Amino acid sequence: SHRITMGPLVAAIDQGTSSTRFLVFNSKTAELLSHHQVEIKQSFPKEGWVEEDPKEILQSVYECMERTCEKLTQLNIDISNIKAIGVTNQRETTLVWDKETGEPLYNAIVWLDLRTQSTVERLISKTPGRNKNHLKHKTGLPISTYFSAVKLRWLMDNVDEVHEAVVSHRAMFGTVDSWLIWCLTGGKSGGVHCTDVTNASRTMLFNIHTMTWDPELCKYFGIPMEILPSVRSSSEIYGLMKICSSRKSGALSGIPISGCLGDQSAALVGQMCFQDGQAKNTYGTGCFLLRNTGAKPVMSDHGLLTTVAYKLGRDKPACYALEGSVAIAGAVVRWLQDNLGIISASEELEKLAASVGTSYGCYFVPAFSGLYAPYWEPSARGIICGLTQFTNKRHLAFAALEAVCFQTREILDAMNQDSGIPLNQLQVDGGMTSNRLLMQLQADILCIPVVKPSMPETTALGAAMAAGAAEGVSVWSLNPEDLSEVTSEKFEPQINPEESELRYARWKKAVEKSMNWET
Ligand code: ADP
Repeated sequence: SHRITMGPLVAAIDQGTSSTRFLVFNSKTAELLSHHQVEIKQSFPKEGWVEEDPKEILQSVYECMERTCEKLTQLNIDISNIKAIGVTNQRETTLVWDKETGEPLYNAIVWLDLRTQSTVERLISKTPGRNKNHLKHKTGLPISTYFSAVKLRWLMDNVDEVHEAVVSHRAMFGTVDSWLIWCLTGGKSGGVHCTDVTNASRTMLFNIHTMTWDPELCKYFGIPMEILPSVRSSSEIYGLMKICSSRKSGALSGIPISGCLGDQSAALVGQMCFQDGQAKNTYGTGCFLLRNTGAKPVMSDHGLLTTVAYKLGRDKPACYALEGSVAIAGAVVRWLQDNLGIISASEELEKLAASVGTSYGCYFVPAFSGLYAPYWEPSARGIICGLTQFTNKRHLAFAALEAVCFQTREILDAMNQDSGIPLNQLQVDGGMTSNRLLMQLQADILCIPVVKPSMPETTALGAAMAAGAAEGVSVWSLNPEDLSEVTSEKFEPQINPEESELRYARWKKAVEKSMNWET
């Protein structure tokens, strides 16, 4: 059959908390040519615990690659045009596997997981002045259940298989990027054990100034350094794909994996926020607002994290970001679906909420995993307040969407206070941004316009850009001017600011209650 010839293509693996995607872009136009997506099961074995199966994660990647390759063939696009593959991933989620058998030694502990709450409280109580920011000067992070080090410590203390593998020098630790790259480059027969600086900066074992694993931090958490992956830039050739040739996706064998970025960093790159001061907010399972601060790490006085934004090449400088992380955004939608059953698919939420257009004074603080930025309060729990006889599931649906917007307002306020220069519009992306009511509410609650790119897969785009721009690949220019006009949609604020402030003040009261409900 005849095949369309076109410029070089670049693919991305986007392994998120709720799903895995494989996507193929044209490197000249950034056009998305084909993709496939598979949902990932989450298990909640105990209250506050969140796990995923590492083998299911890997299988989902294989399946997405296979189906995308089939679709490309149907489109008469030659798979051999794919010149590089990038990886982007849910950050902090922690895995340990056996390098000899290639087998995971426990489920992946997902970033949202709260099992380490008591460990975290103990660690903080031992710091001078009970200071959760005791390690912030090196890591940019508060001591919290969120980051990998405490999860890894839990695995070593509570899972015999992990303990034994560490003692007998067979254990490998990694976040999801490391697990996937190791498996895809050959696994137990020669896989590459690496991570990139952005993922490393979320472990609490990484010094964001020296850009290396920090022996003192490793000692603090009792982590042997030999189990850590090597840390590389976000854009360089890590290794070549090795895939069984009996599949259609076998054609991907030999293609370099040459981009790696944590999902929020990838979205920053995909939105082309390369300048100091540029910011984006991504609405997925959680919600993450990142603002580029250029070549220097800025420490927040308002509960934001300092993190490595990207380092796009071995010899390129690192860029840093201030980050406001919200644990529960899309996860509240899934909760309304799975736990309350008031919707049967996330797309139904918009219609349900729009049918009333108000929460009728109901406020919903979904502090299921404690509260992240700007509070960092692991003992907070979710509350729904302001209920009357009149309240129904539609109001609750609306309150859930408002909760996402109020949480974003809190981190945007913190960001503006830290930088002194208020953002005059917000660039957004992520799965939840397909909800137009949410976007309008967000503009109303922030009192600034919200701008959404027409091509929503910015996280994958960022990973593809990093892979395509790598030394030895060089099929993608990172110059924003070289890309075809990016089209977007703008949501303007429509309610008056006083009303917005009143609602926000009530939200703040509800947040107070979520933090003090036990006392
Ligand atoms: P992640 O990268 O964390 O896996 P995604 O960016 O894929 O997340 O977004 C998925 C999340 O967005 C899910 O939690 C889902 O419930 C939510 N979501 C998707 N579509 C909608 C919608 N139309 N309205 C509200 N929430 C949605």
